[in-house]
Amino acid sequence: MFTFTCRKIVKDGLPRSEKEWEKLLKPEVYQILREKHIESPFTGKFLYNKEKGVYVCASCDNPLFSSDTKFDSGSGWPSFWDVISKDSVELEPDYSFGMKRVEVVCSCCGGHLDHVFDDGSPPTGKHFCINSLSFIFKEKK
Ligand code: FE
Repeated sequence: MFTFTCRKIVKDGLPRSEKEWEKLLKPEVYQILREKHIESPFTGKFLYNKEKGVYVCASCDNPLFSSDTKFDSGSGWPSFWDVISKDSVELEPDYSFGMKRVEVVCSCCGGHLDHVFDDGSPPTGKHFCINSLSFIFKEKK
């Protein structure tokens, strides 16, 4: 499962219990990251964000995606053709709702980010389809 190696988590004495996550996160963020909800398509605040910068995990600050790999998939969620580094996320098989999908989780806190598909953009052909609420955007100054 998860390797809790994130510096922030070590420093803060994490991993936290689900009860602690519930206290720590805004309800709408908790529902996504810890309860695996999916935000409604075309509602996320970063869907059309074109600023340069880095998307970090909303609960643990782990850098996840760069604006350099963001593309418009038409799916209704922010989409990326790669992660910022191979250690930033873990991929888990997900057979819920009678579908076969690949879940993307933050490698530091285990938070649910969303899923990755193979209908993406060159050069990787991957499509990381991610909830806006699962990250915070840090603009490059
Ligand atoms: Fe995280």
